[in-house]
Order: sequence, then structure tokens, then C-alpha cells
Amino acid sequence: MNRRTFIQSVATTAAVASAWTKAGLLQQSNAAVSHSAHKEPVMHTLTPLPYAYDALEPYIDARTMEIHHTKHHQTYVDKLNAALEKYPELQSLSSVELVSDLTRVPEDVRTAVRNNAGGDANHVMFFTMLTPKGGGRPVGKLAGAIDAAFGDFAAFQQKFAAAAASHFASGWAWLSVGPDGKLLIETTPGHDSPWMGGRKPILVLDVWEHAYYLKHQNRRADSIAAWWNVVDWDHAERKFNAPS
Ligand code: MN
Repeated sequence: MNRRTFIQSVATTAAVASAWTKAGLLQQSNAAVSHSAHKEPVMHTLTPLPYAYDALEPYIDARTMEIHHTKHHQTYVDKLNAALEKYPELQSLSSVELVSDLTRVPEDVRTAVRNNAGGDANHVMFFTMLTPKGGGRPVGKLAGAIDAAFGDFAAFQQKFAAAAASHFASGWAWLSVGPDGKLLIETTPGHDSPWMGGRKPILVLDVWEHAYYLKHQNRRADSIAAWWNVVDWDHAERKFNAPS
């Protein structure tokens, strides 16, 4: 290689390197533009349980807890994400926010959001209100409000259990606070909830068969009797005192 050829060679290499760098910058800049134009979807994720699957034994068995959380609850989260795929403006809303005002959800996905945001919201509340240190009686202001509304705790338990046991097919039993500030026991079909009617839920029980069938088969009343032993009344008291 003489000197002239060497200089040409260096120049060519530099030009190629420069072109590569420009292409690289161009690609990066396109990526930045496309990132801002098409935001990454905000995905709903499965809320972890604050205890182990076997923590609620013998009242709720580990196998039921694991399937309930990793299969049933996970499926509602996945289907909610699928339903919101076309509607990025709705993706950052929580499941509770979504079911609290379904009129802002486009009609083509409204039923899917009702069922799956409902499934997510209800299960998060149900699971997080259980604790191996649960049971006993309501505490604080909620205890007084239950006595005032239902006579005493035993009368409330009896009425709540009867509502949960007699609810036809899949659904949920709730203790909630209405707009008038009064406590009420209600049941909802599917994954509907008090949030949909502007009421604040305080306590919730899943009466879908998947919540109890492995251990109790058709005996829903037995599963309700067992569930009282793992209710976190401190959690219920915090919900009762929270603004919403
Ligand atoms: Mn369930």
C-alpha cells in the first residue's frame, strides 16, 4: 500500500464508520419517536398474596388458595389486559376505578372489563382481607356500627352467612356502606360489586364454587363457617374508616 492508497483507505473507512454512526443515530431517534408515539401498554399485574398458600390451613386449604390465585385470579388479570389493549387511555386506571364507572369504557369491551376488572378488584380485596391471625370479632368503630345495624355480632354473622349461602350460582357476599353511611349486607352476581353502585365495601366473601369446591364440594355453608376464622377485622376496620 503506497501512501495515497493508504489515505484513501483510511478516508473510506472513516466514511463508512460515519455512515454507520448516522444510521445508528437515525435508528435510535426513530425508536425514540416511535416510543413516544406508541406508548408501551400499562399492564395490570397479579397482586401477590401477603401470606403463603398454606398459611390459612386448615380453614382454607393450600391447593385451593394456589389454584384460586395463580389460575383464576391470574386469568382475570390477563383478560383485563387483553380487553384494554385497544384503549391505552384506560390502561392506567385501577380495576376498582374501572368498575366504579363503566360508562367511560367503550361498549365493545365493557362486558369484558366488567367481568375481568371486577374479577381482579374483588379477588384483591378478598385475598388481602384474609390472615392466618384472623377470626375473632370486629374491632373499633366498625364493631359499634355492626352492633347498631344488626343488633350484635352474632346476628350479623348469621345474616351475612345466610345471604352468602343462599346466593344463587357464582357471586360474592359483601358488607358495605351505602351513600347514606349505613351498613348493609348484599350479594352480587358474577364479579359485580358495591363499587359499581357507589357503595364502599368493608368485607367480602367469594362464593364461586372455585373458592371452596376442592375442600368442601357442594357444602358452601361449611366453607363460610371456616372463612370467619381467617377474616382480618383490623383490615375491615381500616376500610370502614377510610374515605372510600
Ligand atoms: Mn374467586
